[in-house]
Amino acid sequence: MTQHATGESFDLAVVGAGILGLATALAAARRGFRVVVIDKDAQANGASVRNFGFVTVTGQERGAMWSRAVKSRAIWKEVAAAAGIEVIHTGLWMMVRHPESLGVLEEFLTTEMAEGCRLLSPAQARATCPELRAPHLSAVLESTVELRVESRLAIPRLAAWLEQAHRVRFLRNTTVQGIELPTVQTSRGNLRAERVAVCPGDDFSGLYARRLAHFPVTRCKLQMLRLANPGFKIPAALMSDLGLGRYQGYAALPAATALKKRLANEQAGHLKHGIHLIVVQSADGSLVVGDSHHYATTPDPFSHDDVDALILDEFRKALGIDPPPTIERWTGTYASAPDPVLIDNPEPGVALGIVTCGAGASTGFAIGEELVSQLFD
Ligand SMILES: Cc1cc2nc3c(=O)[nH]c(=O)nc-3n(C[C@H](O)[C@H](O)[C@H](O)COP(=O)(O)OP(=O)(O)OC[C@H]3O[C@@H](n4cnc5c(N)ncnc54)[C@H](O)[C@@H]3O)c2cc1C
Repeated sequence: MTQHATGESFDLAVVGAGILGLATALAAARRGFRVVVIDKDAQANGASVRNFGFVTVTGQERGAMWSRAVKSRAIWKEVAAAAGIEVIHTGLWMMVRHPESLGVLEEFLTTEMAEGCRLLSPAQARATCPELRAPHLSAVLESTVELRVESRLAIPRLAAWLEQAHRVRFLRNTTVQGIELPTVQTSRGNLRAERVAVCPGDDFSGLYARRLAHFPVTRCKLQMLRLANPGFKIPAALMSDLGLGRYQGYAALPAATALKKRLANEQAGHLKHGIHLIVVQSADGSLVVGDSHHYATTPDPFSHDDVDALILDEFRKALGIDPPPTIERWTGTYASAPDPVLIDNPEPGVALGIVTCGAGASTGFAIGEELVSQLFD
């Protein structure tokens, strides 16, 4: 990575090399602007490399977020091909066992968000993937639109491609300490930029901390697991009833009220820890499985065994198989607020963008375009 950009001049400086910073850099570079991306870490280390790499459209909040996901998914597809990022599998199987969940899926299928989706019977599902025994399965919502990338490989690959194909400059190990346009002050000296996009993820105490204090932002901590290869290929990313109660595209539908009641009665322990199930597969066959949701200004960094046990309990219930051995554990955090995205203009020429929900991998490319449009149009 190029490191000696201080003293140079750019059309746009992007603070943060997570998915949102990279997406913003892409949108600006495609318009022909000279772009520098500055990150305090040596390599991406935040939410963008800790997530499932699950680029999901189905289930995103109806309206703006769903449209952002549709657009971002199209950009992911195009960028993955150009940058040599492997799409490891596609689609989603929402595997449900409760009758109330079936009601939610049937209502979902009547909405505009159901494009590319259909219901599979348990027999159809078992014919496709007999290894998923799921004895209590009542239906599967199959969607064909989702993509899965291996974020810890995809994000560095995306950055390298931006550098090579779009001449985006990268300054790593460099903290942006202040912005007085056209000067961007960093821990390694100053550079000049006409405009700045600040994409700091869940770091609310750095740039524009006083401004951010006016927004109801907090942080959400998630526990994640990698399980050994189960010995078969999953047909798509897998989710379960608990996901219908959390993902707003389903959870906001009237039919979800009855399901949420049942889940509150029967799975209060899971709900207490914000657990829902996502299972995706890596190129070596191992499974990435999660997750939980705990909210705090500074969440603790520890993985708690009882929480992992509840995630694995849902895995067992939904898939009908014993979880393979756990081979890796990690936690991650993302920004959270009542609105799913925070876009602000703290001063002329500066845009601040934060994805304040767990959907930045799915919506970041569209939000990056919005930030660039706000700065240059
Ligand atoms: C465990 C987990 C699972 C998830 N699963 C999914 C999923 O499957 N699908 C999905 O769509 N979303 C998922 N998400 C959410 C998604 O990962 C985030 O919304 C997204 O990564 C946020 O990207 P970002 O670029 O805004 O933030 P980050 O990835 O946190 O990047 C912000 C960057 O800014 C840098 N930075 C901050 N301040 C400064 C400064 N002053 N100077 C220099 N650098 C600075 C940081 O070093 C960091 O690299 C998940 C999140 C987690 C934690």
